[in-house]
Amino acid sequence: MSTPHLNFINGEWLAGNTLAPNLNPSNLADVIGEYAQGDAAQLDLAVRAAETAFPAWSTGGIQARSDALDKIGSEILARREELGTLLSREEGKTRAEGIGEATRAGQIFKFFAGECLRLAGEAIPSVRPGIGVEVTREPIGVVGLITPWNFPIAIPAWKIAPALAFGNCVVLKPADLVPGSAWALAEIISRSGIPAGVFNLVMGRGSVIGDALVKHPGIAAISFTGSVGVGRRIAEACVQGHKKVQLEMGGKNPQVILDDANLQQAVELSVQSAFFSTGQRCTASSRLIVTEGIHDAFVEGVKARLAGLKIGDALTAGTDIGPVVSQAQLEQDLSYVEIARSQGATVQAGGQRVACHTGSGAEGFFMAPALITDSTPEQRINREEVFGPVASVIRVKNYEEALAVANNTEFGLSAGIATQSLKHATHFKRHAQAGMVMVNLPTAGVDYHVPFGGRKGSSYGPREQGRYAQEFYTTVKTAYTLA
Ligand code: NAP
Repeated sequence: MSTPHLNFINGEWLAGNTLAPNLNPSNLADVIGEYAQGDAAQLDLAVRAAETAFPAWSTGGIQARSDALDKIGSEILARREELGTLLSREEGKTRAEGIGEATRAGQIFKFFAGECLRLAGEAIPSVRPGIGVEVTREPIGVVGLITPWNFPIAIPAWKIAPALAFGNCVVLKPADLVPGSAWALAEIISRSGIPAGVFNLVMGRGSVIGDALVKHPGIAAISFTGSVGVGRRIAEACVQGHKKVQLEMGGKNPQVILDDANLQQAVELSVQSAFFSTGQRCTASSRLIVTEGIHDAFVEGVKARLAGLKIGDALTAGTDIGPVVSQAQLEQDLSYVEIARSQGATVQAGGQRVACHTGSGAEGFFMAPALITDSTPEQRINREEVFGPVASVIRVKNYEEALAVANNTEFGLSAGIATQSLKHATHFKRHAQAGMVMVNLPTAGVDYHVPFGGRKGSSYGPREQGRYAQEFYTTVKTAYTLA
């Protein structure tokens, strides 16, 4: 039995109540390691440690914070291949995608190492003579970070880095399915020079650790990424507890393809954003909204591209699409294919569980990417988030109908258009009801130094990432001085 991976609380590694195995979705016989499962008492210990550490950390100067973040970023980048491999082994995205995600995590820490030196205020003249007004930003306190399984290192990174940069203390509760990457990140942070209690990791179930974190009176703010259902309950608890809250949730992202699109480019970017990373990206395009003139050629193009993809072990070179993350997620994905069929849509390709095409051929949660056609905007397949390698095509008459269908959803995370028309691209950028808009690019795949987030049912509260992250991780103070 390998050494168990413990929780990190007040600068020490502490065993939890129990241990849980971290399983490889590409190979169900592969146990990556045993990870601690904390309880509410341990979570309380972590919050109290963070509260104790906060006064010194929040006032201790920005150079120490910048140095620590830079050191963390450097180590992640130096170890990106190893961290990316671990990530792919536990989550199932391909190794190349895993290394890309680890790289992004390192870059985020480097970015915020600079951002904490750039936090500025304002000096404003008072309307009353002889008085000066200053507006400054201060840290908010102890922040609770709750992260999903689909980006096991990048999402923890894009919450931890700004939280620490702006002087807050942190309690991280990572997704129970993928504790390995979060633990590896915590281990790097533990050696960065950050004082005990400033950063804490408590692994365990959302219903236990997540719930206790959200309700703890010592927590000033919660940043959550995950499903709409859990997010809504967290928001309600945060309002009750008077906590600042930021939610990044699901999507039903539209990809519009107009008659004048470059066909090959449209096929490639649609396959990329709908099916790569096994479709398990909140920014994946799951509704392909295609105008009549290009519809049939587009569907044939996507089918041909899907036929050439290799589905298999995430760690094997040559794999295009890794496994679905878990049995429960696989069942959900397969059930939505059946729902689409039962409501009158046509399954053109995939949609069934398959054996591993690459690597050892071990048993895993592999699914052939599902392309669904003849679907209508009202069908459940076009209204509910599946969160797997499943995309449906909606045929529309023209740009105006495409835009209306694209916006006909409760979500609003990312929206894309494939067109050669400047007029339509410009109109779409302005009128797509989404936090992020892509022109001739996949809906998934974003930069690390600019804001990330959505609108409508996809997001709530200030944006994450880039300079805009300071909105959530700081609070504003207005000071008046009589000259
Ligand atoms: P999830 O089930 O909502 O879980 C997210 C996190 O919340 C996990 O750490 C989970 O813990 C925890 N949690 C569960 N119940 C809780 C409770 N009662 N109180 C507090 N925390 C609780 O979501 P997921 O399945 O991990 O992730 C998939 C979802 O995330 C999709 O909807 C996807 O669109 C969304 N997502 C959004 C973005 C974005 O930026 N918009 C990015 C990535 C993913 P356990 O793991 O222990 O259940």
